[in-house]
Amino acid sequence: MLVKTIKEVRNIIKQNKLREKTVGLVPTMGYLHEGHLSLIRKAKQDNDFVIVSIFVNPIQFGPNEDFEDYPRDLDRDYKLAIEAGANLIFNPSVEEMYPQEIKTFVEVRDLTENLCGLSRPGHFRGVTTVVAKLFNIVQPDKAYFGQKDAQQVSVISKMVQDLNFDLEIVPCPIVRENDGLAMSSRNVYLKATERKSALLLSQSLFQAQELINKGERNAENIKDFITATLQKDEKCDIDYVKIVDFDTLKDIEILKGNVLVALAVKIGKTRLIDNIIMEVK
Ligand code: AMP
Repeated sequence: MLVKTIKEVRNIIKQNKLREKTVGLVPTMGYLHEGHLSLIRKAKQDNDFVIVSIFVNPIQFGPNEDFEDYPRDLDRDYKLAIEAGANLIFNPSVEEMYPQEIKTFVEVRDLTENLCGLSRPGHFRGVTTVVAKLFNIVQPDKAYFGQKDAQQVSVISKMVQDLNFDLEIVPCPIVRENDGLAMSSRNVYLKATERKSALLLSQSLFQAQELINKGERNAENIKDFITATLQKDEKCDIDYVKIVDFDTLKDIEILKGNVLVALAVKIGKTRLIDNIIMEVK
């Protein structure tokens, strides 16, 4: 079922809650791929009723980012989401979500200051605000997020903890193409030669993982290695290569504990991100 209004979603949720059905939410911006579908399938395993929201959220895009160009295909998304187990697709308009100028924002400090927060000021404020709105509208028992956006998972988990949202965040592993490229709606922007260059993101991370497995613990050495690998291709314009503690998202010098190795690279006009998360002894 396709629903466009908040009122209608609320009515349907009420009926489900009355019947003691559990509700899972998968927030997306649409143009669905296997990464999104893996979240929907997981939500279906865990819950009686699954809502997939499809909303390209203007307030999480910067002025020079791709809000207008972001790929959209609701008919295709609807079919894919239903096939994967969704019961309801919530696709509000911008006017439905933001009928007046918004003056209330949710902001998670600290965790938003490193990594993508450095190059996309205001992005996470837009994400936490819209996700908080979706949580209030849907009141899910569980909400599903991909580790592809590792910082987002961490920021939203903190928001849920700090603001006492009564739900569980379920992080889900990154789904990749056969050749390693992390799936992303933005991959459609890539021309054939750019698509080849994009492989260096996952390749450099996997090679770094091997270095770490072999005993390398010095963050600078690993970052230098990744940077050098990416720089072999002049199409790769590095935004950042970082190694942080996954609990604090602060840069670390020596790898220990729960470690996030993350990078953002621009290829042509397309900004891509990827990461690996490792427990390092
Ligand atoms: P988006 O539509 O890009 O905002 O993504 C919606 C959700 O799907 C987010 O929780 C993403 O982290 C997740 N997601 C996107 N790409 C992948 C992927 N390749 N593997 C797993 N989850 C993903």
